[in-house]
Amino acid sequence: MRRKMAAGNWKMNGLLADLVQLDRIAATCPAPDADLLICLPASLIHPASQQVRHSAMMIGAQDCHWNAAGAHTGDISAVQLADAGAAAVILGHSERRADHQEDGATVRAKAQAAQASGLIAVICVGETLAERDAGATLDVIGAQLDASVPDSATADSVVIAYEPVWAIGTGRIATTDQIAEVHAFLRARLIDRFSPQTGGAIRLLYGGSVKPDNAAQIFAVPEVDGALVGGASLTADDFCPIVAAL
Ligand code: PEP
Repeated sequence: MRRKMAAGNWKMNGLLADLVQLDRIAATCPAPDADLLICLPASLIHPASQQVRHSAMMIGAQDCHWNAAGAHTGDISAVQLADAGAAAVILGHSERRADHQEDGATVRAKAQAAQASGLIAVICVGETLAERDAGATLDVIGAQLDASVPDSATADSVVIAYEPVWAIGTGRIATTDQIAEVHAFLRARLIDRFSPQTGGAIRLLYGGSVKPDNAAQIFAVPEVDGALVGGASLTADDFCPIVAAL
């Protein structure tokens, strides 16, 4: 039985004053049977982790370097994120793959660093619209999954998020058939590569314009263990109904 997860991604949004939303989420939508994770800009991780330390909510980051320390101006390591109170980190988000030319090998190295620091790696995969239109969705996602997930992955240390690039921030969601097809494919590929135990226990999230009004239908799709939520994770008013639909 996989534990459900609702993960928020604030992207490059949020100031200290916005952390009040975390108190509202913790107070109004506790989810004893699910993991709640909010991935924040690096500037907010330490204050946020202090603020929620008496709740079960986890605070996460949105990227890390593959090295633990060194001459990497502007980067942040998994060791530093864990030290600041993070419990997880999003890796290989399509915005990072596009804006920072991150490939599977880079994401895998980052995931190994995250694992070494005790962080859950939320590894994102997803096809562009051109790739879907070309009928290449499963090839693209399979290749991303194989390259990005380390051999050392366990169900406790890795979560996979399927995020079609064309559904992120667009208001356009994949159909339940499209989500079901990709999630079944991901599950089979993980079981093939690891084992029925490990591959069957790694959680699979859907991400891409998940909102209060579509969450329940997405969560009803087989092999969907929760969601990675961007825009609708910024306020408790939007995020709590999604958590409630888990
Ligand atoms: C995301 O940033 O991972 C995401 C899914 O964004 P949105 O929910 O806004 O589409």
